[in-house]
Amino acid sequence: MAKRTESVVPRTEVAVVGGGAVGLWCAYFLQQRGHEVTVLDRGEIGAACSWGNAGYVSPSHVVPLAAPGVVTQGLRWLLDSESPFYVRPRFDLDLARWLWRFARSGTAEHVRRSAPLFADLGLRSVAHYATLQESLDLGFRPTGLLMVHRTEHGRDSNAELTEHARAVGLEVDVLDPDGVQALEPAVTDGIGGIYFPQDAMVDPAQMTTALHRHLDAEGVRFLPHTEVTGFARQEKRIAAIRTSRGTLEADEVVLAAGAWSEKIGHELGLRLPVQPAKGYSVTVVPGGLAPQLPVLLTEAKVAVTPLSKGRLRFAGTLELAGLDGSVNERRVRAILRAAPAYLRLDAVDIDPAEAWAGFRPCTPDGLPLIGRPASLDNLTVATGHAMLGITLAPATGDLVASLIEGTPPPFDPSPFRVDRF
Ligand SMILES: Cc1cc2nc3c(=O)[nH]c(=O)nc-3n(C[C@H](O)[C@H](O)[C@H](O)COP(=O)(O)OP(=O)(O)OC[C@H]3O[C@@H](n4cnc5c(N)ncnc54)[C@H](O)[C@@H]3O)c2cc1C
Repeated sequence: MAKRTESVVPRTEVAVVGGGAVGLWCAYFLQQRGHEVTVLDRGEIGAACSWGNAGYVSPSHVVPLAAPGVVTQGLRWLLDSESPFYVRPRFDLDLARWLWRFARSGTAEHVRRSAPLFADLGLRSVAHYATLQESLDLGFRPTGLLMVHRTEHGRDSNAELTEHARAVGLEVDVLDPDGVQALEPAVTDGIGGIYFPQDAMVDPAQMTTALHRHLDAEGVRFLPHTEVTGFARQEKRIAAIRTSRGTLEADEVVLAAGAWSEKIGHELGLRLPVQPAKGYSVTVVPGGLAPQLPVLLTEAKVAVTPLSKGRLRFAGTLELAGLDGSVNERRVRAILRAAPAYLRLDAVDIDPAEAWAGFRPCTPDGLPLIGRPASLDNLTVATGHAMLGITLAPATGDLVASLIEGTPPPFDPSPFRVDRF
């Protein structure tokens, strides 16, 4: 007699693996279009990288991480223990391959091709957030984004970004120090900047919590603390998902497991080069004059986000150090030290060990992986959103729902195809 395996739930139409911002927005659009959805997560829903990030919804971020000059700059930063970018030297074939592809992707042509994609998807997401905010409090605010610089190098880098952004039709205001003061009095004197009025922000934890509750009330089934451990395949189909709590049969599977996607991809015979890039944030109620707008400190690469109840979040650093969640206190201190040089704030007195850490899911070319692999008929991948998962999640969810239904996609999905590596 065939051995029976225990099922977590009888069966579902669409199983979404990963309950972060990306998985939740996929579930949102699927549920809206009448599909029956189950979301599985190895931990709490929304508690991984989508929790303590800076919450920028930023079409302005049109330059992918893989851009000219990043590799040279990265090599210089490797020697600096407080730098915003770090690769932990280790023998890891996946990392070596990833770094090689990353270095090859960083061309001017790649930036030229990627910029309109980021702007388009970012603007679509701003519109989706604004629409949903009308019925659900996601902590979304159409604030714009102010990027400020203290040095000539910072000014040049923002001038370059302004050029790329304008070339793809985004609005950018170039501001002298008086202009910056008029817009955001919390910035110290003598600092110039650029302002992107079409950018916005959400409180990321408020957004994931509100979406989770809303979907739960609408009948989406949530299975937290349910780790996907493997799959049963039948030719070109996933017949069942094996989890730490039994098996689950699904007609369609969405893989939205963020920084863990490469490992799950291996189980399915897929090559999904997604490296975890750790970043930190610290959230405080600061003394001094707190900014009302999200402000990016250009040279320090620190994002400052005003949240509700007078809280201010400082976020930054990018460490390619595997899935190691330990906190590098020197780098957290560097984030905190940067702020008073740009903002009228008192020094932040907090134990760096209390910082939040999250793993950005990074692909070598900086573009997400969204699509259906040729080798499997009932899988859709939605991962690799790197530094822009909050920005790109709604547009991704919209696309995923149409790919599953086979309806015309909201935008051309080919640049994001999952078989490109
Ligand atoms: C410091 C910092 C600041 C950032 N700031 C911004 C910003 O301002 N704007 C922006 O757009 N983006 C920002 N990001 C990036 C953004 O946070 C990520 O791109 C986004 O959260 C990724 O979402 P996700 O749903 O793909 O991954 P996650 O939120 O990590 O979700 C993946 C989920 O998959 C689950 N999972 C993994 N393996 C399994 C398994 N085997 N079985 C079941 N479940 C599994 C995990 O538990 C997790 O909940 C920032 C990131 C960091 C670190």
